[in-house]
Amino acid sequence: MEDCLFCKIIAGDIPSTMIYEDEDTYAFYDIHPQTKAHALVVSKRHVPDLERNTALTDHELAACLRACATVARLMGLAQSGYRVVNNCGEDACQTVKHLHFHVLGGQKMAERMA
Ligand code: AMP
Ligand code: ZN
Repeated sequence: MEDCLFCKIIAGDIPSTMIYEDEDTYAFYDIHPQTKAHALVVSKRHVPDLERNTALTDHELAACLRACATVARLMGLAQSGYRVVNNCGEDACQTVKHLHFHVLGGQKMAERMA
């Protein structure tokens, strides 16, 4: 989609540091890490947010979650643990309107999420 930051990253028009890629997902390091390890997993097909998940096939949606676990393993977080976060909409402070999941870890995190 034109004027979508993550579509441009997937297309290679904006640089990113790739961690993992498959036919449905692309994963790269967050430019402003909120934890010692912070990656983003995005669906290759443009969907604005999780609320619009029916625009993706079950396979594409499952691929996102599976990619989160793969990325966590590639970042060395499988044993220590990690958190997967999706911000959906205004109250969750979603800033990029292209479905993505944060993979956070590398340190002990707060027990509460809000
Ligand atoms: P959200 O607030 O859930 O929409 O998350 C968007 C995330 O995208 C934020 O954590 C940003 O730091 C991250 N971000 C924005 N621009 C870039 C970029 N060019 N490369 C990597 N991550 C980015
Ligand atoms: Zn997009």
